[in-house]
Amino acid sequence: MSGYEAVIGLEIHVQLSTNTKMFCGCKLEFGAQPNTLTCPVCLGHPGTLPVPNEQAVRYAIATGLALGCEIAPRSMFHRKNYFYPDLPKGYQISQFDVPICSEGELAGVRIHRAHMEEDAAKNIHVGESGRIHGAGRTVVDYNRGGTPLVEIVTEPDIHSGAQAREWLQLLRATIKQLGVSDVNMEEGSLRCDANISIRPVGQQELGTKTELKNMNSFRFIERGIDAEIARQTALLNAGEKVTQETLHFDPSSGSLTSLRSKEEAHDYRYFPEPDLVPVAPAKELIEEIRVTLPELPLQKAERYEHEIGLSVDTARLLAFRAEMGAYFESVLEAGGEGADAKRLADWVTGELVARIGADTDPALSNVSPAALARLVVMVGNKQVTGAGAKTVLDRLVENGGDPDAIVEAEGLAAMDDSDELAGVIDAALEANPRAVEDLKSGNGKAIGAIIGFVMKQTQGRADGGEVTRIVRDKLSL
Ligand code: ADP
Ligand code: MG
Ligand code: ZN
Repeated sequence: MSGYEAVIGLEIHVQLSTNTKMFCGCKLEFGAQPNTLTCPVCLGHPGTLPVPNEQAVRYAIATGLALGCEIAPRSMFHRKNYFYPDLPKGYQISQFDVPICSEGELAGVRIHRAHMEEDAAKNIHVGESGRIHGAGRTVVDYNRGGTPLVEIVTEPDIHSGAQAREWLQLLRATIKQLGVSDVNMEEGSLRCDANISIRPVGQQELGTKTELKNMNSFRFIERGIDAEIARQTALLNAGEKVTQETLHFDPSSGSLTSLRSKEEAHDYRYFPEPDLVPVAPAKELIEEIRVTLPELPLQKAERYEHEIGLSVDTARLLAFRAEMGAYFESVLEAGGEGADAKRLADWVTGELVARIGADTDPALSNVSPAALARLVVMVGNKQVTGAGAKTVLDRLVENGGDPDAIVEAEGLAAMDDSDELAGVIDAALEANPRAVEDLKSGNGKAIGAIIGFVMKQTQGRADGGEVTRIVRDKLSL
């Protein structure tokens, strides 16, 4: 990458979780029997008329407000014309020159616009081995056709795959918090295209961009962008040019293939939708939506930082990752009034994440929020040592259950019998004469051998600090 800077702008489609479709009364239900949620309007029969979904307009406004956008007092629907089997009308109702939301910003990335549109139906490609209708065909499920979407377009303010991934995680958590979408990437409720170019460091003018289409996981987005940056860098280094084209990233092979070049780009022949009046939300409506916005992840991260005293990184990890944050809130709640929020946060983002991985929803793990909260309380009360608690957490991750019962069953209770501990320490001193000599001659590190012996004997039930204190006492150090 040396000598070049990557420039990335994202286009994100978000399916809104309204009860019904954008312009008709058909229900929205992912996974329903194909072609059961359709009507003459969303199937594009002649003579039918679209009726805008008020809930979708409210959701679009809420999204714009959460992204710091201006809400247009009057915006239009346009027809975006193209011919494809997933589009029975032959056009998609979208917005063109005046989107409902524009000029926002989220965590340093400017939002160019966010507009409303309807989703296309879903083409399902059935390969040679497919069992539907024989070989090599495409079938269409019109259930998705007409689902309300908000398309969010950023300015090209992102500079790496990792930054794109982190920012998208924040965007996703923000939209989830708003409650306007279920933002389920596997089900296609949140889809992302990345526009990518590179330019010599210091150059203002943007390079030629390519577009990576429809990536549906954070990991693939990061990898796809980084692969494309590497490809463009190699091209420029070889004295060649980047051609403007649309690309597909194959996560399994890591390869990029061209879907279409600029010459094949559509001319959409946009024109105002004659069957719909402009969207003109009253000021009062916009204010009503603004005051009912929930606490958003950015604000939450600040609160975690300032009220709970979490580090910036821990606060952001919890606030920007929707599932992790929700789990942390449940642990806090389970911990009740006196819970030490900072310790709970450290256990969630540290020990638990180390065991289940940062991309797993902790709510789907075997560790219930109540169990984790209880375990942390037990550590605080010195009922179990840090080392013992890690063993308990191992068991919780494996099989779930209750920390008290695990401590009991595995004999992990911290030693509170100081006679027993003193006895083990005597044995440790006797078994480690060299460490004792070293300690006496001023080599403080030698205590490690003795603590190690004690921990082994007690299976981690002894408290390291307590052991150190007693050893020093016994050797009069
Ligand atoms: P198009 O007309 O090809 O759709 P737009 O100007 O509408 O392009 O921009 C689409 C997206 O591409 C936006 O997110 C924008 O920030 C981004 N973008 C535009 N030009 C570049 C570029 N040269 N490099 C990277 N991203 C770009
Ligand atoms: Mg575009
Ligand atoms: Zn319908």
